[in-house]
Amino acid sequence: MPAADVKSLDRTGLAEALESLGEPGYRTGQLVRWLYGRGATDFEQMTDLPEALRRELAGRFSLSFPALVRRQVSAADGTRKYLWRLGDGATVESVGLPAGSRLTVCLSTQVGCAMGCAFCATGRAGFVRNLLPGEIADQVTAVARDFGTRATNAVAMGQGEPFANYDATLAAFRFLNAKDGAGIGARHLTVSTSGVIPGIRRLASEPEQFTLAVSLHSAVQSTRDSLMPGARRWPLLELREALAAYVETTGRRVTFEYALIDGANDTEAELQALLRFCAGLLCHVNLIPVNAVPGSALARSSKQRVERFRHALQSAGVEASVRVERGADIDAACGQLRQRCEA
Ligand code: SAH
Ligand code: SF4
Repeated sequence: MPAADVKSLDRTGLAEALESLGEPGYRTGQLVRWLYGRGATDFEQMTDLPEALRRELAGRFSLSFPALVRRQVSAADGTRKYLWRLGDGATVESVGLPAGSRLTVCLSTQVGCAMGCAFCATGRAGFVRNLLPGEIADQVTAVARDFGTRATNAVAMGQGEPFANYDATLAAFRFLNAKDGAGIGARHLTVSTSGVIPGIRRLASEPEQFTLAVSLHSAVQSTRDSLMPGARRWPLLELREALAAYVETTGRRVTFEYALIDGANDTEAELQALLRFCAGLLCHVNLIPVNAVPGSALARSSKQRVERFRHALQSAGVEASVRVERGADIDAACGQLRQRCEA
């Protein structure tokens, strides 16, 4: 039987494995520190664990760490895009976004994505598999190591629908949040969903104050259905209710992502629907002029339309901003990630 991958375990799983080896409780923190605080690539490096335990762990578990296949650095703004090879040969991308003393890592939660959004390169390529908790968290460790600093923020906005891989994403966020892990504040850890309602409900009930972003892209059901076919299962009316409940339970604000596409979701009727959707909800709208992806004819809204949306939202008392494009020269902007880099 092949050894289990230690990266498949959440914190409880690690604690149980150590307990079954007769180890005291404090070993869990030590192991988490090695795996997610320091990014160990071998059990042998874990010098404060007894040698016999290191051997025992190495016999039971494989320990994979993402291997760098390709790194691109934006000449425009220092954004770095990475293609990693995982333990089984699958590849995923992550992005590192430096800004002053901050480093935000945009991580993937799945290899590919099944949601099939029309404007997204990941969605066009289809779904391969879920990432393991450790494979999600390791992207942050690996990117921070490359920058020679610690990550201050992480956003699950790379490839994949995080709530289609809820348990692994949450387990990873807990490793990233943990003092003995990456030590990133819960509010600085953001999960972005295409609107998977059961995931939104579960997140509302978690004890941590993780930040929620929702890819809205249209508040008109028929438009949203055609742009985001995978999200049809969760209609806008129910989504609106689930978000109101989320705000009520957590007291936290929701961020909406709205990729503005010329003639598709940037009309006056779309704007009015968006205003109605946001009315009375504690939210922030992030307007993203859509980025080009290969094989898609969708074009960016004009500057005037983007400004019209921003102004109308703000005038109605809805917080709104236009997302600054980063890493476009290396195809690292929103929606441009793919599981393979075509050389
Ligand atoms: N799968 C998750 C998280 C990743 S995508 C989700 O969809 O929420 C991060 C954001 O970029 C999402 O809002 C996504 O809809 C948006 N996006 C995808 N393709 C884009 C494109 N071509 N231009 C601009 N934004 C895009
Ligand atoms: Fe998947 Fe998000 Fe891309 Fe939609 S936008 S296909 S949910 S990664």
